[in-house]
Amino acid sequence: MSRTKMSQTIIEQHGGRPLTSLSEDEEMFRGSVREFAEGELRSRVEEMDEHAKLDPALIKQCFDLGLMGIETPEEYGGAGANFFTAILAVEELSRVDPSVGVLVDVQNTLVNNALLRWGNEEQKKKYLQQLSSARVGAYALSEANSGSDAFALQTRAVDAGDHFVINGRKLWITNGIEAEIFIVFANANPEAGYRGITAFIVEKGFDGFSVGKKENKLGIRASSTTEIILDDCRVPKENVLGEVGKGYKVSIETLNEGRIGIGAQMIGIARGALGAALLYTAERKQFDKSVNEFQGVQFQLAEMATELEAARLMVYNAARLKDAGQPFVKEAAMAKLFSSRAAERIASRAIELYGGYGFVKDYPVEKFWRDSKIGAIYEGTSNMQLQTIAKLLIGGKQPFVV
Ligand SMILES: Cc1cc2nc3c(=O)[nH]c(=O)nc-3n(C[C@H](O)[C@H](O)[C@H](O)COP(=O)(O)OP(=O)(O)OC[C@H]3O[C@@H](n4cnc5c(N)ncnc54)[C@H](O)[C@@H]3O)c2cc1C
Repeated sequence: MSRTKMSQTIIEQHGGRPLTSLSEDEEMFRGSVREFAEGELRSRVEEMDEHAKLDPALIKQCFDLGLMGIETPEEYGGAGANFFTAILAVEELSRVDPSVGVLVDVQNTLVNNALLRWGNEEQKKKYLQQLSSARVGAYALSEANSGSDAFALQTRAVDAGDHFVINGRKLWITNGIEAEIFIVFANANPEAGYRGITAFIVEKGFDGFSVGKKENKLGIRASSTTEIILDDCRVPKENVLGEVGKGYKVSIETLNEGRIGIGAQMIGIARGALGAALLYTAERKQFDKSVNEFQGVQFQLAEMATELEAARLMVYNAARLKDAGQPFVKEAAMAKLFSSRAAERIASRAIELYGGYGFVKDYPVEKFWRDSKIGAIYEGTSNMQLQTIAKLLIGGKQPFVV
């Protein structure tokens, strides 16, 4: 193939579009999320963080704007957009408040995603409709003694004829206070090990279901994180999501995609922190100059912007790979690992660029730093991401070409 022909083919395959350039629809969508984040969200961020509570009016607005069912097809009441669009929403919201970012992230990339992929027609009709229009969802896998080792979960499901009886406790469940629909993982056949793990759709109103302690956290404080108690909880058989014993697959596959959402949350944080630092260093005068006139400060801003750009390309690429139906698991793990580190470093540097003002709550950057820390922990710690990347590098089906 001639060189011109080859580059033509590459351009056709990729649509000739740089990773960060958006289609008209994506641009419009991002604009509307930004308008909401700036107009409705920004003024409430500090108070929600202080009181560790999301404003219910904001949650309603997220539903009204179509942010709670982005990928859900229109026939089930959703917006029928692609995964990348959900990523854009999480990024834009997190630029202003990562707590709202994670509300929307869990709803779309974990809960709706699990239902879209594993739900039968009746489950989709019933639950996706509700999740798009009014009811918040949550994803309950972790327990006190099973985090990274998620398949060691101790929650048990016993077949009782037309229903299962579930007993156990889940910990660290995002949206625990607001959610009404939970994807709960329990082992229905412990002798089979992880092959007994089963996913259930559990409604808040089911007998034996209750919400336990709410955590008082370092960051993303407005996002609720709670214990979930299942005490002889009766779950109808028709609420098994996927097949009995296939819950491990449901969890692995949803979390693989969910990680890209956390990457988006992290680049949102990094953008928020860098944006604030750019404004502040332009305004702040020392030695009769704006501090951004000092090369030392300029270089720090340049480092921050470069790191953000790299993280953003990684997150966007992983999302676009997923939408294109191509392998993305390694890229998703890399994107989460890198973007969580970048967000932490960029927010930390923003604090330093604010000087003493960076250390107090009257200014936004200390919160971005607190909020960034979770990126290295949930949906698989950084060590777990490294493990996934290493496994795919060394033992992947397709040899890694350097
Ligand atoms: C704010 C918040 C929200 C959350 N939301 C949810 C949610 O909505 N749903 C849900 O199910 N869970 C949720 N989680 C739980 C989260 O996914 C777990 O905390 C996370 O997976 C880590 O598990 P762990 O806390 O038990 O840590 P551990 O697994 O005990 O890890 C402790 C340390 O050991 C390291 N480690 C463990 N095993 C290995 C290994 N094999 N190799 C190398 N290092 C290792 C880890 O990297 C970590 O540094 C949330 C957690 C938090 C804090």
